[in-house]
Amino acid sequence: MESNVRVRFAPSPTGPLHIGGVRTALYNYLFAKKHQGTFILRIEDTDQTRYVANAEQYIIDALNWSNIPFDEGPNKNEKFGPYRQSERKEIYKKYAAILIENGWAYYAFDTSEELDFHRTNHEENGKTFIYNWHNREKGKLVNSLVLSTEEVKKRINSGEQFVIRFKTPADEILEMEDEIRGKITIETKTLDDKILFKSDGMPTYHLANIVDDHLMEISHVIRGEEWLPSMPLHILLYKAFGWNAPKFAHLPLILKPVGKGKLSKRDGDKLGFPVFPLEYTNEETGDVSRGYKEDGYFADAFINMLAFLGWNPGTEQEIFSLDELVQEFDLKRVSKSGAKFSPDKTKWFQQQYMQTKSNAELTDLYLPILTEKGIVKDKEFVQKVVSAIKERAVFVDDFWELSSFFFLAPKEFDEKATNKNWKPETNSLMQELIAVISSIEDFSSVNTEKVIKEFISGKEIGFGKVMQPLRLSLVGKLAGPHLFDIIEMIGKKETIYRIENAIKNI
Ligand code: GLU
Repeated sequence: MESNVRVRFAPSPTGPLHIGGVRTALYNYLFAKKHQGTFILRIEDTDQTRYVANAEQYIIDALNWSNIPFDEGPNKNEKFGPYRQSERKEIYKKYAAILIENGWAYYAFDTSEELDFHRTNHEENGKTFIYNWHNREKGKLVNSLVLSTEEVKKRINSGEQFVIRFKTPADEILEMEDEIRGKITIETKTLDDKILFKSDGMPTYHLANIVDDHLMEISHVIRGEEWLPSMPLHILLYKAFGWNAPKFAHLPLILKPVGKGKLSKRDGDKLGFPVFPLEYTNEETGDVSRGYKEDGYFADAFINMLAFLGWNPGTEQEIFSLDELVQEFDLKRVSKSGAKFSPDKTKWFQQQYMQTKSNAELTDLYLPILTEKGIVKDKEFVQKVVSAIKERAVFVDDFWELSSFFFLAPKEFDEKATNKNWKPETNSLMQELIAVISSIEDFSSVNTEKVIKEFISGKEIGFGKVMQPLRLSLVGKLAGPHLFDIIEMIGKKETIYRIENAIKNI
């Protein structure tokens, strides 16, 4: 059953979605699902100068890969559409006009040169220029609060450029409530009269955002901390329209792994980790930015990591499936202070998820890699390989490095290890071992281990004298899983072939 909870993720399509944006989307998604509500995607593309054509598709792909798809949005269940602000221009015009009519907004004709002049003038006197109650009606600024109605009409009809500004109350104490930060109080006299409508005929973010949140019946606005300074204006706009405001929750910043400040793409470039969910190609410059998906992260590991950047369940548990996150998520447990991003912790989550994946699932991911290398092996065999190596793997891309010897005889032998372990007497020992192995009938791991160990004991030499050269023969280096498991997997013929090959080449 659907509830009245309706939340939205409202990115501006100005480039690829930063992981901070994905975290905002995730918290909205979790909140919506927890309350059987609706998760909406709205594209806030009113700033034409920063619009990037492939960004919207990137955002949608990123949400889909992260398994947090939207319920309503562009081309999907368009009950409250359109969901692209550039397609809603007429709506905003209507609401701007309502504000003007009610005396909550006014036309301003000041040119940018004039405004620059005021700014410089103020700076020279050690002051900051703020367009608001204390100067808007004094006559130096050109707006409909001081011009006659006739004059305003004349200017607009003659095509003169204008903006529409919000008429912020001069002296009010505004009390606001944030679900994460609690009570916030501000004096309206410190605010400026923000532009609601630009001279290019487009609304600014503030107007469009409020009108859409109202018309789309948004119950909770969950967004990044950088929007906290806009909250007073937004609350005032709701009052001006006579609408009930939604509840607000401002999420903490995601901070750099080292040093101070917000996590940026530059931190990722410097320290070698992606800050985007998916790889992104800048169509103008051709620059390619790395993505978690392409770097080999599982979406569920990535999401689990993101969930913990600013939220915690209040217990020791760290591994949560998406369903469990939905159950546990609570805005009350979102922290006020910034969350430090940790590339190591991100890898740790990936490693944990690697262990929870089934061998069958991992085999399906490994098979195409093997096919590309020209290796044809049945699924059952590959599944056994995966089970033997997965505890040492972080990414599926590590599999080949950890398991190539299950498929191919080593081409090279670790020089340091052979110098140390392949002694003058090793060749003849290995010849004897071949004879022993040839006679083994039951080639199971347990039995070959028993027979070969008996052979070594009978010779009264250290185990290493045979075991190390044997490992070098089969693997090429002193690494890999239990040796007798490898022997069982590759079989008698291949085991003998590899020992002969080592005798010849070492
Ligand atoms: N368009 C804003 C952004 O890009 C949305 C802020 C909000 O959620 O109100 O983040």
